[in-house]
Amino acid sequence: MVASTFPPSRDAALARLVRFVPGAGRRYEAGRNTDAGPDLPGAVSRLSPFVRYRLIDETEVVAQVLAQHDFQAAEKFVQEVLWRTYWKGWLEMRPSVWAHFLEERDRQRDSFPAARALTAAETGCTGIDGFDDWARELVETGYLHNHARMWFASIWIFTLRLPWSLGADFFLRHLLDADAASNTLSWRWVAGLQTPGKTYLATEDNIARHTNGRFAPKGLAREAIALTQEPVAAAQTLPEPAPHDPGRPSLLLVTHEDMHPEAVFGGSLDIRSVLVAADPGLLWGDGAQHFVGTAAADTAIRARAHFGCPAHLIERLDAQTLIDAAAVSGARQIVTPYAPVGPVADALARLAPSLATAGITLVQKRRAWDSRFWPHAKKGFFPFKEKIPALLRESGLI
Ligand SMILES: Cc1cc2nc3c(=O)[nH]c(=O)nc-3n(C[C@H](O)[C@H](O)[C@H](O)COP(=O)(O)OP(=O)(O)OC[C@H]3O[C@@H](n4cnc5c(N)ncnc54)[C@H](O)[C@@H]3O)c2cc1C
Repeated sequence: MVASTFPPSRDAALARLVRFVPGAGRRYEAGRNTDAGPDLPGAVSRLSPFVRYRLIDETEVVAQVLAQHDFQAAEKFVQEVLWRTYWKGWLEMRPSVWAHFLEERDRQRDSFPAARALTAAETGCTGIDGFDDWARELVETGYLHNHARMWFASIWIFTLRLPWSLGADFFLRHLLDADAASNTLSWRWVAGLQTPGKTYLATEDNIARHTNGRFAPKGLAREAIALTQEPVAAAQTLPEPAPHDPGRPSLLLVTHEDMHPEAVFGGSLDIRSVLVAADPGLLWGDGAQHFVGTAAADTAIRARAHFGCPAHLIERLDAQTLIDAAAVSGARQIVTPYAPVGPVADALARLAPSLATAGITLVQKRRAWDSRFWPHAKKGFFPFKEKIPALLRESGLI
């Protein structure tokens, strides 16, 4: 079911985008909050696993949408795409929030006493209408509608009173689009940690209305009192990646953080060979591992044709593999699309010193889209949103 719903290739992503674009205007705006169920067509795009691994990227999604709709008509959709950009930029400037989430998750895993309640929630055995269905849908399909994610997280935190970090972990282990920024910060937002004091409360009426009456859960929490924690440190300056040396023989490393290297590195680099890493140890769940493994094979074929050099798959992102591959191809520099906060960025930071010892520089290149939007994610989404039209104009998209 997962593979047929989300075939992991760039062609499949482009085909889905083409089918979706005519509905990206008023149809999306009117229908996007309705979750008709996994087997019925809805108004949303279901592009998220493709966008998550950048088999297709935000620039081309927004460009194609704005080629068919004026900005006012497609504003809601464009804003949703930019929620992802906003979360990525926000976390990039506050990496400690990710580190704290991991610590909190591990602490709760080791000490949470109500193991049975946790298992009931994860296996869809709580008796709560809708919630149990979403738990099973998530495990079976690797996808949930945005509204279902919000209801699920709210019920998890405020009705079942389970730790938010274990809910976020459950999502990470099963979502195909599992993402350090979008997932962690959305769970924090529901819990009232992201916008301090502002929580999201799931109600029976809202669920019944937006599931076309499929579900009407009884006994939900009537209030959602915000969780509390130490205040988050102020935003740090966005780290600026060092520039690459265009004249140096290079090895191109592709990770699952950006699987469309053709859009990141033009023809100006002397690329001798390509490595596409699909390291299961840097992903959380079987579904995402399978998706990325297949997408990596697709990416290697595209990279070979585009860069005109050998492209190989690797299953472990470690220093020795990279050093050996660089030696074979005569590369003195490894270039890679920028890895945002998360396991890949951590792995690159760990292996960079060994590469340096071997005389190889590791250079990350950030996309123009990210460099343009991320610096504006310092505060809440509202001030960010206000800047969207001007930034799209600067990008030449409106
Ligand atoms: C608790 C919770 C956890 C989440 N975890 C993730 C996650 O791990 N990975 C992830 O990609 N999204 C996550 N989201 C955001 C959102 O639910 C999904 O991106 C969206 O449901 C994807 O479906 P779609 O492609 O049909 O969306 P569409 O409505 O068609 O939106 C188009 C694209 O915009 C982006 N987008 C839309 N809504 C959001 C949003 N609220 N936040 C961030 N990006 C958005 C996605 O890239 C999406 O593909 C989470 C939301 C919640 C409430």
